[in-house]
Amino acid sequence: MEGSVSEGFGWLQRDREVAQRDLGRAYGFAKREAAKVSDVPRLSQRIGGKEVAPASGTYLDNVNPANGNVLCKVPRGDTRDVDAAVEAATAAQIAWANTPLTERCRVLRRTAELIERDLDRLARLESEDTGKPIRLARTLDIPRAARNFRFYADFLAARTEPTFRRDGWKHLTARGPVGVVGLVTPWNLPLYLLTWKVAPALGLGNAVVAKPSELTPRTADALADLLAEAGLPAGVYNTVHGLGPEAGEPLVRHPGVRAVSFTGGTATGAKVAQAASSGPSPKKLSLELGGKNAALVFADCDLDAAVAGVVRGGFTNGGQICLCTSRVLVEKSLLPTFLPRLEAAVRALKVGDPGDEATDVGALNSLAHRGKVEGYLELARKEANILCGGERPSLSGELADGAFLTPVIVTDVKQQSRLVQEEVFGPLITVQTFADEDEAIRLANGVRYGLTSTVWTKDATKAQRVAARLDTGMVWINCWLVRDLATAFGGVKDSGVGREGGEWSVDFYSEAKTVTMKED
Ligand code: NDP
Repeated sequence: MEGSVSEGFGWLQRDREVAQRDLGRAYGFAKREAAKVSDVPRLSQRIGGKEVAPASGTYLDNVNPANGNVLCKVPRGDTRDVDAAVEAATAAQIAWANTPLTERCRVLRRTAELIERDLDRLARLESEDTGKPIRLARTLDIPRAARNFRFYADFLAARTEPTFRRDGWKHLTARGPVGVVGLVTPWNLPLYLLTWKVAPALGLGNAVVAKPSELTPRTADALADLLAEAGLPAGVYNTVHGLGPEAGEPLVRHPGVRAVSFTGGTATGAKVAQAASSGPSPKKLSLELGGKNAALVFADCDLDAAVAGVVRGGFTNGGQICLCTSRVLVEKSLLPTFLPRLEAAVRALKVGDPGDEATDVGALNSLAHRGKVEGYLELARKEANILCGGERPSLSGELADGAFLTPVIVTDVKQQSRLVQEEVFGPLITVQTFADEDEAIRLANGVRYGLTSTVWTKDATKAQRVAARLDTGMVWINCWLVRDLATAFGGVKDSGVGREGGEWSVDFYSEAKTVTMKED
């Protein structure tokens, strides 16, 4: 499927520059830029505690996808900036690693408090950068960023290292930092996903160079200020902004970077894996990639809970979460009852102004991304049925040209259709039916991805039997997006390599060292 639109938006990567220009044009930005270029703030990179302009001297536009306003100019970083950031991180890392764990955890805890203090500001930045509803940013993204820091502060402080005693010898296995870690993150949950990596990495004594998506760069920048305010020494957290191939790839490839944690599309993940292994030294690699997650709805489910869960799973953040439900598999006998209920609930979702507290579905992340989702609608018109949605809603004023799309339910779709097989990453769910448990599992497992699944049934024994047979890294039974940060997070098949969360993050962001001595 290389080159298809589902492949981590490869076409979007290639055409990013063109897309940037087109976005600007579509929003009349070219005119605005000529008139008031000085009004558009410039973001800096954070290197060695300083605000640093890109070596290229050039900038990209960060466009609010809801109204086309250019929010800021994003440094177009490249290898030179990456080199400087890795050098700064390397210089700062050893002193940070030698800082007592209690102090490192204090910095993490304080950062959590500062994120909570600045919740409204950060939520606004996130909502404007991504197009997501402000309510979602305030209740999901930003609180989770704070939780990531607080969780790892407590988790790392409470950890004990194992000691093995045998034949008069004592073996202690202690954890030490990896060194400098490179973090590459996507645009859908910018601060949430970045902090999921930054918190354990810093807590374990590493220094970080982060490359956030250039589409949503502002909270990664804001985090630099908060970390500094919390007492993180200069150079321990660095950001390089810019395009994936220009700034992300050199970071991943850099010989001074000992571990790379990447979250993004599967095709990009494959490139990252290649780049990470291309140098003279091997690196640790964690890949959190795409998903095509199924909800298995059995006839004996709690119908209200299942409908609400599928709608939430399908359309939270406009379906732009790797964990979103995108395939709904319904037991045949339940379909006549289930489908009208689902349709009514989806039609009731309020699409529109991300700044409005009542909005359920905001703008997609860009016009280009909406174009990609609309490509799947064309396919649905040809080979399936669009039960509802898929229109550009008529919104007034600045929002008229925003990247909005009403939530879509596609029915009468075949398992081999690209609508079922490929990651759309938008507000679109497909509905298929199954006759029995075996068929439900066969359909659920019949895709290249294996990130999550949800099972809706009142029969706990059946739910656990089904969960055991699902080829996904995570299974939710009668719920969605319930996360204990101590548990393993990650996917199987093309959804990723490795796990993060709790002890799995400790394993990734540290190296085990065994010290052996005679027993006293
Ligand atoms: P992409 O894969 O396009 O990009 C992710 C990040 O990688 C961005 O910062 C991007 O920069 C950068 N990048 C792009 N090309 C390269 C390269 N050659 N080398 C190094 N870095 C590169 O993902 P999206 O931002 O479009 O995010 C959506 C995808 O992320 C979906 O597939 C989704 O499923 C997945 N995802 C997975 C999650 C998980 O935990 N499994 C969680 C959330 C999302 P740039 O922005 O400049 O392209």
